Amino acid sequence: MIDLPVADPWFVSKRVDGQVTLVTEPHVHPLLRCNVWQVQGRTSDLVIDTSLGLAPLRHLVDRELANGLLAVATHFHSDHIGGLHEFSHRAVHRAEVDRLTEPVTTCLESLAYGEDVVGPYRRAGYRIPELFIDAVPVGGLETTVLEGDPVPATRVLDGGEIIDLGDRSFEVLHLPGHSPGSIGLWERPTGILFSGDAVYDGPLLDELDGSDVGAYVTTIRRLRELPVTVVHGGHEPSFGRTRLIELCDLYLAARG
Ligand SMILES: [Zn+2]
Ligand SMILES: [Zn+2]
Repeated sequence: MIDLPVADPWFVSKRVDGQVTLVTEPHVHPLLRCNVWQVQGRTSDLVIDTSLGLAPLRHLVDRELANGLLAVATHFHSDHIGGLHEFSHRAVHRAEVDRLTEPVTTCLESLAYGEDVVGPYRRAGYRIPELFIDAVPVGGLETTVLEGDPVPATRVLDGGEIIDLGDRSFEVLHLPGHSPGSIGLWERPTGILFSGDAVYDGPLLDELDGSDVGAYVTTIRRLRELPVTVVHGGHEPSFGRTRLIELCDLYLAARG
C-alpha cells in the first residue's frame, strides 16, 4: 500500500457559473491534475474529461436526466480518461478512437516520465516530487501504477459537430498538436471555450508521443483569433481573452 494520508473527500467541486461546475483533485500534482468540467443543460449534460480515475467520479456529475450525460474526452491522455469507464456515453475524436481500445496505464512516480513531460514543468518552476500525489483516496492505493481496462468510444467526433444540451450547444473544434485528436468545445454565443490540453495557463506540452509542433502552431493561431470570454482548460485555473492572447503569443514566439 502507498503510505500517504487519506483525503476524504478526494474531489473538490466548485460551481463556476449557473451551469458549469469544476471538479478537481487537490492532492494530485498540477501535471496530472486534470480539470473535470460538468456543463448542465436542459435535456442533457456534458462531462468534459474524467480525471485520473483514482476515486469514483460519476456520482458527482450525474443528474440522471432523461437524455443522459455525455462524457467527452478532450484527448486520450490517461490523466483525462481515468474515470471514462464510469460513463455509458463516451465521445472522442476519430484520430484517437484506437487509443481508447488499449488498456489505460498511469504511473504516479515522476521517474517514469521523460523530459518531454516533466522538462517543461521543471523549466517553468514547478517542483517535481517523487510521487505525483500527496494523499490517497478512501480505501488507499495498492500501487503507483494504475491499470484500467480499455474504454471504447461510443461516439466518434471529427470536429464541426454541434453537441446540443437543449438550451445551449457546443461546437466541437479539432485542435491537434498536443495530441492528434485533441478537441475543444466552443459555445459561440457566450464565448466559453473548453480547451482541453490545447491551451491552458501552464507549460504546454508539444514533444510527447503523438505531438506535432506544426499542427500545434496552426491550432494556437486559430485559438488566438477566437472571440472567447473565458477559457476553461484541461489544467490550471481559467482565464479570459487577454491571457489567451498572451499564452498564444508566448507559444508562437517559441515555436511559430
Ligand atoms: Zn494531455
Ligand atoms: Zn493533461
